[in-house]
Amino acid sequence: MSEFIDNLIKNNKLLLSTDKSKKYGFKIGKKFLGQDKVLIAGPCSIESREMIINWSSELSKIGIDALRAGAYKPCTFPVRQEINGWKEGMKEAGLKYLKEASDNSGLQTVTEIMDAQMLSNEYLNKLDIIQVGTRNFQNYTLLDALGKIDKPIILKRGTWGTLDEILGACERILEGGNNKISICLRGVVGGPSYRHIFPSTRWMPDLMMIPALKKFTNIPIIYDPSHATGLREFVVPVSKAALAIGADGLIVEVHPDPQNSVSDPDQAIGLSELNEIKSFY
Ligand code: PEP
Ligand code: MN
Repeated sequence: MSEFIDNLIKNNKLLLSTDKSKKYGFKIGKKFLGQDKVLIAGPCSIESREMIINWSSELSKIGIDALRAGAYKPCTFPVRQEINGWKEGMKEAGLKYLKEASDNSGLQTVTEIMDAQMLSNEYLNKLDIIQVGTRNFQNYTLLDALGKIDKPIILKRGTWGTLDEILGACERILEGGNNKISICLRGVVGGPSYRHIFPSTRWMPDLMMIPALKKFTNIPIIYDPSHATGLREFVVPVSKAALAIGADGLIVEVHPDPQNSVSDPDQAIGLSELNEIKSFY
């Protein structure tokens, strides 16, 4: 298939992620990721108890499959001022509200982990699916630890990650025995040639990686059109393209008041755009 990947297999470096006889993926709501196309949606951050409880109940009426929302937000620059309980996320309080939102709406939840030390039962009991953020894509202590737990993982591609590095990161988790994994593509470095026109487009959409990865692995692929585009007007068309090119699902940032989102306001969409995305399924 590829001499490069074949050599990695021959040298025992990629054995599990590239085993096409295996089925990977996990249940999300009533669907099975890898068989059914899933839609995960929610705000970038949990902003208050009221916000996440009310918003998840709205989103569940639309019929999404799981709720995304960050309690811990890795910010590019340190945040020095707390605003209404939010400082690089609402942290423990946010997780508690997320659990309440899940109990109330019936939606499973996806939230980001920062490091292996967070892996306590107290943390794990409050969420359903763990998101490994871009910045932790090659945090091997974390990936090795995630291999040893029984929780589904969404591993986001580092903005620099090559195809073999993506498989290598998955291999770490699989090696520990956790088969409930998925890859999330979310845009890469590359300096979009229109950044001077649309400054919030920080990353290049990495759509071709979907069919490229599928040549070598059965691990389901979720596309994140929000971070990949950085600008709400492009989220709907890139969602359509990602599903058309073979993504197994989308994870989208949706906010009740998109412009005023505490984090990532430029890329947040509202309900009308979410409904449009839903029509592509
Ligand atoms: C996020 O999903 O809000 C996020 C921080 O994503 P990434 O790790 O891809 O930047
Ligand atoms: Mn975000």
